[in-house]
Amino acid sequence: MSKSTVTEYSEICSFCGRQAEGEHHLIFGTAGRELSEKDGLKIPICNNCHNMGDKLNRVHDNPMAEKLSKMLGQAIWERDWILKDAVHDEDEEKEIQKLESRIARKEFRKRYGKSYL
Ligand SMILES: [Zn+2]
Ligand SMILES: [Zn+2]
Repeated sequence: MSKSTVTEYSEICSFCGRQAEGEHHLIFGTAGRELSEKDGLKIPICNNCHNMGDKLNRVHDNPMAEKLSKMLGQAIWERDWILKDAVHDEDEEKEIQKLESRIARKEFRKRYGKSYL
């Protein structure tokens, strides 16, 4: 199983902060899920927020949430691609990516007063 490139907090549901019971692949559907798995485009999620809660409060079968999920997946993939292109040594690349993600997360939180991821 690949690691999420979206968040390090694999135990916490990205939507509600409760204990995560599974993973949501940001880009899903026939081919998307497998690529999403390979690329780490996934977030920890509780069953309620995933597909068991009522439709307004879960990601699946909620058309706007599904679209936003895919948009987020693409934005993160493109960010990862740019970072990956900048460095060629794989270990160094991973370190830089981790560091930059952490700093970026902190900077976002500073600017917007909260973090959505
Ligand atoms: Zn949740
Ligand atoms: Zn899902």
